Amino acid sequence: MARETLDVLIVGAGAAGMMCAIEAGRRGRRVLVVDHARAPGEKIRISGGGRCNFTNLGCGPANFLGENPRFAASALKRYSQRDFIAKVDRHGIAWHEKTLGQLFCDDSAKQIIRMLTDEMSDAGATLRLGVSVQWIDRDGEGFSVALSDGSSVRAASLVVATGGKSIPKMGATGWAYEVARQFGLRVTETRPALVPLTFEQGMLETLIPLAGVAVEATVSAGKTRFSEAMLFTHRGLSGPAILQISSYWREGEAITVAMAPGQDVYARLKTAKDENGKQAVHTALGHIVPRRLAESIAAREGAAGKLAEVADKTLRRLDQAVNAWTVKPVGSEGYRTAEVTLGGVDTAALDQQTMQAREVPGLYFIGEAVDVTGWLGGYNFQWAWSSGWAAGQAC
Ligand SMILES: Cc1cc2nc3c(=O)[nH]c(=O)nc-3n(C[C@H](O)[C@H](O)[C@H](O)COP(=O)(O)OP(=O)(O)OC[C@H]3O[C@@H](n4cnc5c(N)ncnc54)[C@H](O)[C@@H]3O)c2cc1C
Repeated sequence: MARETLDVLIVGAGAAGMMCAIEAGRRGRRVLVVDHARAPGEKIRISGGGRCNFTNLGCGPANFLGENPRFAASALKRYSQRDFIAKVDRHGIAWHEKTLGQLFCDDSAKQIIRMLTDEMSDAGATLRLGVSVQWIDRDGEGFSVALSDGSSVRAASLVVATGGKSIPKMGATGWAYEVARQFGLRVTETRPALVPLTFEQGMLETLIPLAGVAVEATVSAGKTRFSEAMLFTHRGLSGPAILQISSYWREGEAITVAMAPGQDVYARLKTAKDENGKQAVHTALGHIVPRRLAESIAAREGAAGKLAEVADKTLRRLDQAVNAWTVKPVGSEGYRTAEVTLGGVDTAALDQQTMQAREVPGLYFIGEAVDVTGWLGGYNFQWAWSSGWAAGQAC
């Protein structure tokens, strides 16, 4: 059996793995990247609706969840959004800020993949696709690794960059957690995050007729709130505000939704009633929220007639229904559609400067595999770039 000797074996040619390969290769290391997929960076390709929201101008540790959200601070500071933007600019990739500091390619996410694969080959790193790992043995100062193509590798450093469990259809495996456990590292509880929320049948009967309606909303779970778009769907609620709150919501809890945040709905309806009482309630409400939503809320609150016929206390109920709508999700759409996995390899077991396992010299975990999860908006890719860069400097 062919046995290759390397400095660094990276498993996973996603955002984090490719970034790590570039940095390690530039430092003269002999680097091999293996991936069981047929193409590198598949999640980059589909991200941001095909335009890749590759970072966020305001990225900092406060935008991340995990048992120790401060863990990300060092890597995010040493390789920041500004560093990645400079890389994108050097490659002449045009980009724009869409909203809330989110940066997207003007043209295509494929440009980011091309940038990374070009830099990898310039740095002398080798990429082997369609290959997975069969077993890993730690021997002396390094690792012996058997690959599925029949070859074996000896590497001083092993970098696990295989991501989390989200979108199994795209080859997500949760394999990183198995490796962590093999070497005695704790894995925190994992769950789907940045994912649409689902509802029981009774509530779905209210939601389904509204499928396709979008509103700017403030959605809260406990003390956490996000103000972004919310979308009604055939399966429940989605859109950025819901995806964001899904990372904080837990089973059994309700979420509260304001669908006209910052507006005094009662005062507006009362003025409309005083000025033009012949107006239908849903018409007046339709000046505040989308018309289909207004009709649904008015019907649900038994406020079908003209404004003049409706008591002020009903207007107050409508205000509550618009701006303090409390609903209890039953679950989420799960890993099938989740953009990321919350939880992962315990950060307490890793060095925050290098991503190296404290008790297993030479073993590194980077990217989504680690218990560092970003908000929606380019934060997860920035963590992949920053953690990949940090490990690439060290391995
Ligand atoms: C639909 C969608 C859209 C997204 N959009 C954005 C966005 O716009 N902005 C943003 O910041 N984040 C976005 N994300 C999240 C982002 O894609 C991830 O956070 C990021 O890709 C994580 O990078 P990673 O390198 O850690 O893992 P990945 O990119 O998942 O890469 C892991 C690699 O490891 C390989 N692999 C897995 N298991 C094995 C195994 N056992 N053996 C060999 N290889 C293996 C996979 O094939 C893959 O190539 C999106 C996610 C999804 C699903």
